[in-house]
Amino acid sequence: MKAILLTQHGGVENLHYTTDFPIPECGSDDIRVRIKATSVNRADTVVRNGYPGLSIPLPHILGGDIVGEIEHIGENVMGFSIGDRVMAAPVISCGTCPICVNTPERNHLCFNWKYFGMHINGGYAEYCTVPSKCIVKIPDTITYEEATCFGVAGLTAYHALYTIAKLKEGETFMIWGGSGGLGTIAVQLAKASGAIVIATVGKDEKKPTIHELGADYVFNHYTDDVAAEVRKLFPLGINCIMDYVGPATFPKSFELLQKGGRMLLCGILTGRESMLNIHQTYLRHLSIHGLYLGTRTELEELLTLAAEKSIKPLVGKVMNLSQAGEAHELMISGGYMGKIVLIP
Ligand SMILES: [Zn+2]
Repeated sequence: MKAILLTQHGGVENLHYTTDFPIPECGSDDIRVRIKATSVNRADTVVRNGYPGLSIPLPHILGGDIVGEIEHIGENVMGFSIGDRVMAAPVISCGTCPICVNTPERNHLCFNWKYFGMHINGGYAEYCTVPSKCIVKIPDTITYEEATCFGVAGLTAYHALYTIAKLKEGETFMIWGGSGGLGTIAVQLAKASGAIVIATVGKDEKKPTIHELGADYVFNHYTDDVAAEVRKLFPLGINCIMDYVGPATFPKSFELLQKGGRMLLCGILTGRESMLNIHQTYLRHLSIHGLYLGTRTELEELLTLAAEKSIKPLVGKVMNLSQAGEAHELMISGGYMGKIVLIP
């Protein structure tokens, strides 16, 4: 089958396109998906580069978004048919650890979790075998390309805004970097909840698109004094801020949070550590949540919401799977909007 193989950790030159990698076996509880679309996520570049503690057999197949049609069904699996349009919930939970047993509704926190493209082979291929418990059907109104926006980025945004922050109508929501795969879907989901949405972009020409997706206010984080502008608009501060940028923005996010505000931390683009004012945290009743991804149930809820509210995620660029290295470079450059999709 076609696949992009990571042969050693490092730069994009270690991503090799092949057309004769073995098709993965399908176990009795599994479903094999013929992949119609996948996409690039920041986690892919982290795995590609390698990090301390990550030990995976090489060659490895990246990709957390697995979207396509059912090609083979394991003998124990019920409720699916060959050709069904499906996608994979990205976290495989063990079913036996204390989290899975005591709080199955939070089983993406499984102590023995596996993530496609990180701990096991993922979606940069023509086929991927997925445990049937992770398979979710895609509503007819959502294309394969659009579905890739929901699996990793969309699920993280949904989990953050709906499950954790419980964003309400009329509340203020802000995100730094609103034009990428996570940002564009977060803006749309925040708007769908009835919130007032503030987003930032790195180039002025991206502003109209982010407005169209639902942002009420869009600032340029390179040329505008964003914190001052937001403070002028909302002197009491912001109810909920999503920050995946890290140390470069965390202190500003913290300052901008309204009393009782919620901070959603889901990335570390600019570093791993930042100072936290404990005094202000408790005095202002602030909540700081670390998070990523979500459960299969949340993915189903998200797809239903997207279909009902006609949420059309922004597919910014569609490329051939063989161009995965270029896709990584494009994502790192920031010279795109929405999701970068790869088609095998
Ligand atoms: Zn578990």
